[in-house]
Formats: sequence, structure tokens, C-alpha cells
Amino acid sequence: MNEYDSDKMADVLRVSEGMTRTDVLEDADLILFNTCSVREKAQEKVFSDLGRVRLLKVAKPDLLIGVGGCVASQEGAAIVKRAPYVDMVFGPQTLHRLPQLMAARRTSGNPQVDISFPEIEKFDHLPEVALGKINEQTSVASAFVSIMEGCSKYCSFCVVPYTRGEEVSRPVADVIREVQTLVAQGVGEITLLGQNVNAYSGVLTGDNKNVDRQNINSRDDERVDLAYLIQALASLEGLQRLRFTTSHPKDMSQRLIDAYASTPKLSSHLHLPVQSGSDRILAAMKRGHTALEYKSTIKKLRQVRPDLVVSSDFIVGFPGETEHDFEATLQLIKDVGYDSGYSFLYSPRPGTPAAQLKDEVSQEIKEARLQRLQELLVEQSKTLTQGLIGSVQRVLVENASRKNVHEMAGRLDSNRVVNFAGSPGIIGRFVDVKITGAWHHTLRGERIMRTA
Ligand code: SAM
Repeated sequence: MNEYDSDKMADVLRVSEGMTRTDVLEDADLILFNTCSVREKAQEKVFSDLGRVRLLKVAKPDLLIGVGGCVASQEGAAIVKRAPYVDMVFGPQTLHRLPQLMAARRTSGNPQVDISFPEIEKFDHLPEVALGKINEQTSVASAFVSIMEGCSKYCSFCVVPYTRGEEVSRPVADVIREVQTLVAQGVGEITLLGQNVNAYSGVLTGDNKNVDRQNINSRDDERVDLAYLIQALASLEGLQRLRFTTSHPKDMSQRLIDAYASTPKLSSHLHLPVQSGSDRILAAMKRGHTALEYKSTIKKLRQVRPDLVVSSDFIVGFPGETEHDFEATLQLIKDVGYDSGYSFLYSPRPGTPAAQLKDEVSQEIKEARLQRLQELLVEQSKTLTQGLIGSVQRVLVENASRKNVHEMAGRLDSNRVVNFAGSPGIIGRFVDVKITGAWHHTLRGERIMRTA
């Protein structure tokens, strides 16, 4: 999501200001920080990074510094108070206003702060996507498309509803148009993005009413869900693979499960964050489901898509987590057979209900639990990757190795990366690769030529 927003900032500035990206900090006329406040560490990092660029401004007084993203949303003008050399503060919903903020900063001489939530306005003001190869060794065959913003779940630990606002979905026609533009430029794989992407509820307008609308689980007559959108996008010629991330277990509807049965273009990898395997902790987190309900969803999905690979996020050390609760999380990891996962130590976020909870678990215990959980995930992941040896996988060739242009990296349907010998001419294409070796993160393979 943040990467997507950074790309959009670059697009806006390229079109309106003619700016290009640079890796050399000293060359920059504008330095933007796209921040995350999901955990405390990420938030504190922003201020230490800001301290570092401050000196650049002394040498180059016209340099503009901006802070965007969720820390900006949460802190607002307090950022300028703490770091007065910051020129612009903007939120995830106002990044399209960057040119105006820069102009206002220059004419008024005062720092500009705009962290409002103008809902979907952002998408109406973003320039058309124009892809260009980053270099000859990199593919543009895969792209992200944001289809909804915000979160209305209010999990007790999470700051997102306060920094990004409530769930707002883009209209179906807008999404289809953006995907069509990308496909016309050679993109074969699209990842639909949203904080809770499976809560998508987009307005259906005119020309897209031709897709089968029976049994649509919509909030009102004119709104359609993610299953509908997947069906509509899968029918686009040229689009070969569809992914979506990140989902909430509560929004994993039967219609979405059915989409796995009826839509071969939908990837067999699902990232479905569970956070904990303990019903007591799940209730305290306000997740709205039990461990059994979560497992039942996975079971239904695997009935229609037996090769489904599942990954998750886990929070370790939520206030009051007992050894028993933690063991339940380890058990869930085994039961589901996760392929991989992101695991975090619980970080109290200001303004969230969980931040008020009493926490008696020591840091030492929390860290030891995190390590045990990560070791289990690595073990499981190794077993699953070993199981791929000998199989033939359809991969999207993403790029060549930096060291050897005849060494390609391709992404499997299950989201793993395989390295194999090939020529840069196949970058951006889907090819078949036989897996010959497996390690924790990567796979080794050889290209298979299919005969008609
Ligand atoms: N759709 C996702 C879900 O179902 O929760 C939301 C993704 S959230 C923005 C990204 C991840 O950050 C969460 O899944 C959670 O594991 C982690 N996270 C959020 N708040 C956290 C906190 N206060 N402490 C530690 N990890 C946190």
C-alpha cells in the first residue's frame, strides 16, 4: 500500500512538475518521506531520518522536505513543531495535492499541513499510469491497483482507521479502466490493493452492468463486492493473473470462496492475517471471529482450490497473552500449514483501545515467544518449498540477476521466487519452470518448453 502511494506521488510530480526520481539525496530538490505508524519503531524512525536530511537544507535552502503517510496523518502540525524545517505535511488521502502544497509553501513562506480525508477525490486527481521499463533487466509485467482505502474494522490494536479513515471503495468502472490501461501496456499480472481489500464495495456504473449480477452480496443495489470485480477483471483479454491483498478474515465471503472455484486467473496465494490463534485474544483484539471460524474458511477455500498457499500476519505479546494463548497460536500455524508469515511484537498505539489494557507479560517472554513462532514458520516454510521440487510451475519472469543477465527470476502463482537460466528477452512473460532445488526463501529451476 505504501509502495503504491509512493509511486503515485512520483506520478503526480512527474506530470505536474516534470520531476524525476533520484537515488542521490544531495541531487534532490524535494525529499518526501512516506511514513507508516502501524508500529512504534516505524514512527520513531521518521524523526531520526528527518534529522539526517535537515543538514542538506542548510547547504541547499530551496530544498523542500515533505512528510506523508500515516505518521503525517496522526501527528499533523506537530511534525512541523518538532521539525520546523519540514515544508509540507500531507496524509495518504491528500498526496494528489502535493503540487498545490508545494506552490503554497513557496508563495506563503509557511509550512503547509493538509491531512484531511477527502474520500475518493484522490483517485480522480491521479494521472494515468504510464509505465516505462526501469531498465532492460526489470519487468513491468506486474502492477498494483488500489481499489479501496481505509479500514472500518477498528481492531483494538490498530491505528489504521484513525490514520487512513473509514473504508471507501473506488467505482468499478474506474478500476476496470485503470487495469485496461495497464494491460494495454503489457502488464499481465495485477495485484488489487486495499487495507481490507475484500471489504471492497464499489459503485456499479453504466457500462459494467453486463457481468452476471445474481446473488451479489451488496450493501445497496448499486454496489458490488470483490468477487464481482474479480470476475469482471478476469474477463479482460491480456490479463493473465490476479492477486489481492491484504484481506480480513471477516470479509472472506462465500462469494469470494466461490471465485477461487470459478476464476483460474485468481492466484493460489492468499494473505489472510489472523494475528492470534487464541479465541480469548481474538476477542480482545476485536477481530470478530474465532480460530475455528478462521480454519473453516481456509478449509472451504482448499476444497475449491486444493493447492492454495496461505500466509498471515501474527501479533505476539498482545496485553494479557498467556503461555496457553500463545500455544494456541502455534497450534493454529500448524493446523493451517502457513507457507509464510509476518510476525510482530505488539506495539501499543496511541488512541487505540488496546493501548489502555494492562500488560503484565515481560519483554523477555514476548521476545522469546516471537522467536519460537518465527522458527516454526521457517520450519514449515522449508518443508513446503521442498515439496515443490520436481513440480512444473507457471512463472511470471520479473527480472534478470544483477550479476548475470542470463539468470532470470520469476514469480510462482504461490508468490515464491524461482531463479533459472534464461535470456532477458523473456522478461515480462509467463513461462513454465521445473523446480529443481528449494531453500527457505528461493527456489532453483529450469525452463520447460511446452510442445503443442
Ligand atoms: N487487513 C489486515 C488485518 O486483517 O488486520 C490489516 C493489515 S495491518 C495494516 C498490517 C499488520 O500490522 C497487521 O496485520 C498486524 O499484524 C500488524 N499490526 C497492526 N497494528 C499493530 C500493533 N499495534 N502492534 C503490532 N503489530 C501491528
